[in-house]
Amino acid sequence: MSVFERLVGQAAVVETLSAAVAGHGMTHAWLFTGPPGSGRSVAARAFAAALLCDAGGCGTCRSCHQVDARTHANLVVVEPAGLSISVDEARRVVRAAALSATGGRTHVVVVEDADRLTEAAANAWLKAIEEPAEGTVFLLCAPSPEDLPPTIRSRCRLVTLRLPTAADVASVLERSGADPATAAWAAAASQGHVGRARALATDEGVRAQREQALRLPFRLSTVGECIAAAGELVELADDEAGRQTKAVAAAETEALTEAVGKGRGTAGLHSDLQKKQRSRETRARRDSLDRALVDLAAWYRDVLAVQLGARTPPVHPDQAGPIAAAAEGSTPEATLRRIEAVLACREAIAANVTPLLAVEHLTLALRAG
Ligand SMILES: [Zn+2]
Repeated sequence: MSVFERLVGQAAVVETLSAAVAGHGMTHAWLFTGPPGSGRSVAARAFAAALLCDAGGCGTCRSCHQVDARTHANLVVVEPAGLSISVDEARRVVRAAALSATGGRTHVVVVEDADRLTEAAANAWLKAIEEPAEGTVFLLCAPSPEDLPPTIRSRCRLVTLRLPTAADVASVLERSGADPATAAWAAAASQGHVGRARALATDEGVRAQREQALRLPFRLSTVGECIAAAGELVELADDEAGRQTKAVAAAETEALTEAVGKGRGTAGLHSDLQKKQRSRETRARRDSLDRALVDLAAWYRDVLAVQLGARTPPVHPDQAGPIAAAAEGSTPEATLRRIEAVLACREAIAANVTPLLAVEHLTLALRAG
């Protein structure tokens, strides 16, 4: 199966990228943009696999597997350490790319969350993107072109992903074996986020986390309950993130040990990798908690829709009973305030407030109504 089949509802993008792999319209800097869940980094990594694979991205050869495991020698995936990409990290990657793109082999640098480049780091990239080493291809990912300095985005070919429709998502889940009812439910509950939909359809742990988040509104009768519920929500998000990052981390550690061993002189490399893995886990925890908050906000939107008699299809069709009860027991004004409280909590966490503190603040606000 071609790696491009991983892109959901993006026919135009697949056409552009396939043509580039075949040599039509290829360039050395690309910018993948689209809303969260549209699959920016999935698209960038599929393109990387296609550029490095002798068969144009077969998805099954050694090279394609190495791209998936992030262990391919000609691939660098830059993830922000902490909440921004530093100038040191940018310089290191630019140097590594220039050194290794030799012998006529393509070298691909994927920058996930390029919007988190600090200004100084962006300047370090700029030179590399202006005068790329032979054979180096940069794939940057960001929510929108405006998230990058104009000097960088003007040098990139733009690839715009759209949020897939629920029908797009459901049909992908069905093709990979989900029954139609589960596929339709997961597509609605994920609000167009493909990775999330797949996890909901196949992963018991993810479903349990969602249910816990959606029970939260009924567990807030005392201040003590609010604090406990907040703690559990954060803990569950942490567990979920840990499960997801562990497998990748283990593969990376194994690949590094295989490449350089564990002996004297390799401690620095191992500790660099551990640092990268820790910062990835921190981000995965935030993302996991954020998904729970997105579910919760949508749950209150469903409540509001019932209170206002709107005929929009619910995000959480399996929650009709609890949602009707909540609609009955509160006013539209209180529901609106609660939606705003959830959004404020997401913003606080994005702005680096301690997650537990932010969620405790949230549960108390939800209780007050
Ligand atoms: Zn391949």
